[in-house]
Amino acid sequence: MREINNIVILTGAGISAESGVATFRGPDGLWEGHRVEDVATPEAFQRDPDLVLKFYDERRAKLQTVEPNAAHKALARLDAEWGGNLLLVTQNVDDLHDRAGSSRLVHMHGDLLNGLCLSCGQRSVITDDFSNRPACPHCGERTIRPDIVWFGEMPYHMDQIELALARCDLFVSIGTSGAVYPAAGFVQTARHYGAQALEMNLDPSDGSLYFHESRMGKAGELVPAWVETLLSY
Ligand code: NAD
Ligand code: ZN
Repeated sequence: MREINNIVILTGAGISAESGVATFRGPDGLWEGHRVEDVATPEAFQRDPDLVLKFYDERRAKLQTVEPNAAHKALARLDAEWGGNLLLVTQNVDDLHDRAGSSRLVHMHGDLLNGLCLSCGQRSVITDDFSNRPACPHCGERTIRPDIVWFGEMPYHMDQIELALARCDLFVSIGTSGAVYPAAGFVQTARHYGAQALEMNLDPSDGSLYFHESRMGKAGELVPAWVETLLSY
């Protein structure tokens, strides 16, 4: 196995589950009671903006009541102490990695705290409820939508992510079902360039067969143990 310098970590909703944030597709196949197509597509927003804005207002309000867990904190520790390159790519739109202190971090699917203005294209932190149709701080128009990458839209930071995947020695996937592309394909890209691949998830993901090793269990237990071992070499 080649020496590990460059690490890419991909996280999904499962890493925030122990903080009390619902994962995407619960046992009922719904996201907080909604079909994904009804709240997380541009078409849904066009059809029923009030429903979509209210849905994200509820997700934003929920954020105020949750805290980073041991897995978020362990990844922040790794970020602080790892001397090589590291990129944490999260599919999560919550801010728990940010609050735990990770800084080499990109939100590929957007950020619940932000709004995206349909008039001027600027992104900004919006504190008022979206349902109140707050004015854009840049242009003053009341045309803010959630800064969320919906199904059918292009994820953020793809150039930076692709570059990091091509250079990484170790790719680690945590708490993601491996059902949402392009993130689900990152493991194959990383392996194509020779990386080792490790997965940590509650149960086998759709892409488990692509990983050299799959550890099954709770992120809050598996991730701190993995970080401890990695940093002790
Ligand atoms: P997902 O819900 O499809 O999959 C979550 C995975 O995490 C599942 O495989 C599950 O077995 C696993 N899991 C559950 N609890 C776990 C735990 N305690 N420890 C480890 N693993 C656990 O989520 P996804 O793969 O991230 O994909 C869905 C999309 O949902 C993303 O695009 C994301 O933007 C969006 N989303 C984000 C949040 C959030 O920001 N917290 C929440 C819901 C959905
Ligand atoms: Zn604007």
